[in-house]
Amino acid sequence: MIVHKTEAEIDRMRESSRITGLILAELETLIAPGVRTQDLDAHADRRSRELGARPAFKGYRGFPGALCVSINEEIIHGFPSSRRLREGDIVSLDFGVFYDGYYGDAARTFPVGRVEPEALRLIRIAEESFESGLLRFVEGNHLSDVSHAIQSAVEAAGFSVIRSFVGHGIGQELHEDPQLPNFGFPGRGPRIRKGLVLAVEPMIAAGRWEVDILGDGWTAVTRDRSLAAHFEETVALTDRGAEVLSRVGTKAVEPARKELPYA
Ligand code: MG
Repeated sequence: MIVHKTEAEIDRMRESSRITGLILAELETLIAPGVRTQDLDAHADRRSRELGARPAFKGYRGFPGALCVSINEEIIHGFPSSRRLREGDIVSLDFGVFYDGYYGDAARTFPVGRVEPEALRLIRIAEESFESGLLRFVEGNHLSDVSHAIQSAVEAAGFSVIRSFVGHGIGQELHEDPQLPNFGFPGRGPRIRKGLVLAVEPMIAAGRWEVDILGDGWTAVTRDRSLAAHFEETVALTDRGAEVLSRVGTKAVEPARKELPYA
């Protein structure tokens, strides 16, 4: 059952989503060769609590960290560890918080230092496919119109869409109905209407879409071990159209200005 949110609920989700996006923007500034993934996790955990939020993934079905850290061929659900980022890696950070009764959920893939042009293109297409899906996140459209737009953008770039994991409704629960596959025929499934809040999250691979789960029972990797990228935002349909609740600029983490600029 899809739980459509009221304006007041979406207001509260603006805050849980903003905190999520803010912490991801902070994490971006920490990415560098030599950084341990557990240090990124510690930052995400500490900042959540400083901002009055609870890291949503920690303990979720036994997940050990606040942050999912997935490197190179890892798609999602990688554990934070003593592993250090290396120049040329790409690293996907998936993060969520629970704040004032509601969840926020977002993910980005970042380059570590200088990376291969094809890896940068993969990262860019993950984000662009999200934007293509967002253009279809319109009242009256079918949900699968969003799915189809994402798939079309990814495959037009010569990459593939991961099939085993999907986007989802989000609200008082981290994962709510409906599921939102990143592939499919247009014109199917429920229609989009006001109050729908979704975590839209293309997961894409440079090679084929088949997935293996590593021995930890969590980490999903591409079976052909090709690079993977992930881009996710919490998105709501309001009176103003599709609103990306988790999008914040990196400016948000800059120290406050001491003086106001003149107009
Ligand atoms: Mg999600």
